[in-house]
Amino acid sequence: MSLNPSVFLKEIEENNSKFVETNKTTSIASENPLQNLCLASQEVLQKAQQSGRSKCLKCGGSRMFYCYTCYVPVENVPIEQIPLVKLPLKIDIIKHPNETDGKSTAIHAKLLAPEFVNIYTYPCIPEYEEKDHEVVLVFPGPQSISIKDISFHLQKRSQNKSRGQNDDLDKPSFKRKKIEDQEDYDLNDSMCKNAILKKIIFIDSTWNQTNKIFSDERLQGLLQVELKTRKTCFWRHQKGKPDTFLSTIEAIYYFLVDYHTDVLKEKYKGQYDNLLFFYSFMYHLIKNAKCSGDKETAKHT
Ligand SMILES: [Zn+2]
Repeated sequence: MSLNPSVFLKEIEENNSKFVETNKTTSIASENPLQNLCLASQEVLQKAQQSGRSKCLKCGGSRMFYCYTCYVPVENVPIEQIPLVKLPLKIDIIKHPNETDGKSTAIHAKLLAPEFVNIYTYPCIPEYEEKDHEVVLVFPGPQSISIKDISFHLQKRSQNKSRGQNDDLDKPSFKRKKIEDQEDYDLNDSMCKNAILKKIIFIDSTWNQTNKIFSDERLQGLLQVELKTRKTCFWRHQKGKPDTFLSTIEAIYYFLVDYHTDVLKEKYKGQYDNLLFFYSFMYHLIKNAKCSGDKETAKHT
């Protein structure tokens, strides 16, 4: 189920006459978690979708909505009309080199929150060892903790590090760093309780390829965090996997919503909803197209 824009658009066009009559929100709304988001106007995407592919101003490639290699919107999607989302944390996304860039929703995060998001292609990833008291890896597994317990576990790591500093006489630079961190930690003790986490790491890959990245020793020492159970809306949902396997942009979004309420202890008012600006638009286009298609099929059977 790839999102081949030309086939995809043709499908939309062919079904255009049926678009309105089949766009009854009753059945769609009941199963649509993307219904009540606080989103910027998607008119720019509607226009771009009608006019078709346009040029990437960086590489000249012909793309729909955005260029998945340069991480910029295309010519007919002016960057000023794309919302900018402020995040409470930095995000590193590690993608598998074999992953088809055009299919990845990780790019949505880079487009919508460019200051906060970095994408790395495995095996070229940053060293996290010295930062492992302020970084977590979002990955499900037996070792994983929940979002509300992050601060507790990171503080424990931080304390263990400063306690262990006398044992590390052979690593002077590492030791000095720890002492600095400890000083910061003491100064901001009350702040630290909530604000110790600085960066979250996501692996962007099909689930079958994810394990290779996950088992890399540079990631193995990190605290692992699991998301609450949520169902995916992803149209490219991977066959044979449960619908609780989220796409990368869904995982980022749900992580931040939970972090906001469970860790920052603030009321969530849609601050990160625009991370789903592209996702929800594409979701609805495909859903509507499929819906028309299904109706047509149903008529003939
Ligand atoms: Zn490009």
